[in-house]
Amino acid sequence: MDFSFTEQEEAFRMELRTWLEENLPDGWLEGNRELPEELGEYSKFLRDWQKKLYEGGWAAIAWPEKYGGRDASLIEEIIYQQEMVRVKAPPLVNYVGIHMVAPTLMQIGTEEQREAYIPKILTGEEVWCQGYSEPNAGSDLTAIQTTAVKEGEKWIINGQKVWTSFGHLADRCFLLARTSKGEKKHKGITVFLLDMHQPGVETRPIIQMDGKHDFNEVYLNDAVAYDADIIGEVDEGWKVMIALLMHERTGIGAQVFTLEQQFQDLVFLTKELQEEGRPLIKSPFVRKTMVDLYTRSRGSLLNYYRNLTKTIKNGHPGPEGSMDKLQVSELTKELFAQSISIQGHRGMLWKEDAVYGDSYWQETYLYSFGMTIGGGTSEVQRNTIAERILGLPKDMGR
Ligand SMILES: Cc1cc2nc3c(=O)[nH]c(=O)nc-3n(C[C@H](O)[C@H](O)[C@H](O)COP(=O)(O)OP(=O)(O)OC[C@H]3O[C@@H](n4cnc5c(N)ncnc54)[C@H](O)[C@@H]3O)c2cc1C
Repeated sequence: MDFSFTEQEEAFRMELRTWLEENLPDGWLEGNRELPEELGEYSKFLRDWQKKLYEGGWAAIAWPEKYGGRDASLIEEIIYQQEMVRVKAPPLVNYVGIHMVAPTLMQIGTEEQREAYIPKILTGEEVWCQGYSEPNAGSDLTAIQTTAVKEGEKWIINGQKVWTSFGHLADRCFLLARTSKGEKKHKGITVFLLDMHQPGVETRPIIQMDGKHDFNEVYLNDAVAYDADIIGEVDEGWKVMIALLMHERTGIGAQVFTLEQQFQDLVFLTKELQEEGRPLIKSPFVRKTMVDLYTRSRGSLLNYYRNLTKTIKNGHPGPEGSMDKLQVSELTKELFAQSISIQGHRGMLWKEDAVYGDSYWQETYLYSFGMTIGGGTSEVQRNTIAERILGLPKDMGR
């Protein structure tokens, strides 16, 4: 492992830092980071931000140049993540499109599909969502019940998806549907690139316990797709689905940098907040938990670097991504639990009543539970680590 950056890499960092200083929305760097509440304005704000990233050449740096990327190295991707986290940049509305769908299209899609979708993914003109989970299928996606039946030139799709992040903002969905019942459960699944703007697709919001609306239920009632919307082969969608998931887990691990930043924010909080006239950081109990959190989050970062070194050597990500995902999501939950606990009764306050007039700590604490579920639950990650890294026997439940 070598943690030092070359001169060229540092120059890359400075180029991005300068661009961000010049292009972040007005007031962002000064701390005015409130996103619009009204859906149309929210969507426009985020799409405008992605367009700006695209125009500056910063929307998809890891992509090959021929698709509008920068062919960035993994180290440059790390620097990119670090800089985005440092300025708490607005979220990427087309996260699914840029980090999951487009890389899968480059790997498996047809030339026509690449031409039709990749440019619009890059500019943010077409936002994508991921239609995998259903009420009775999440960790075990072989249990999906959504069906697609061929009628003439059309595929008629019926079923229900759930927890569909960005579904209310999306133009297209990377959708799993059952097209036949194979002898093996993972056979007979097909992936469709579904148009969300059609009468057969109805999106209903799910409001989370933090009061926000990030994901949805999606009802498919005779929704229509065509052969050209299929990625990979009919009935052979399992491979396509896994390819997309590999891209998803690699991205989630990079949240290790967000965790680092959040730890620094918590240090700030413990220095600012007082209990009986003393900053919290002076309390032996708080200090002990902070040291514990620091040690383990630092350990996650180093582990992430170690896994990354392996990825660079092997040329592709391995099961170690599960370790990163597990550690970061569980530690984030602990960090925010700690932030609430040390605030005492103030930890119960909300919005303008909360410390500093916003409930960032409370809201993120509530959100952090979802991080241990989305992209594969902690139990599922532990199974992967047990089987594929430690070589233990297979989970008996499957
Ligand atoms: C923030 C967030 C965003 C999401 N975004 C999307 C999205 O955009 N698109 C999408 O399709 N889905 C999305 N999901 C859904 C997510 O992928 C599923 O919730 C997840 O895969 C778990 O599936 P499930 O909810 O059906 O739970 P289940 O699979 O029913 O699991 C229930 C419990 O059983 C445990 N369990 C299951 N199998 C095993 C096993 N073999 N061994 C041990 N324990 C097991 C689980 O860990 C869990 O505790 C999102 C979820 C969250 C929280």
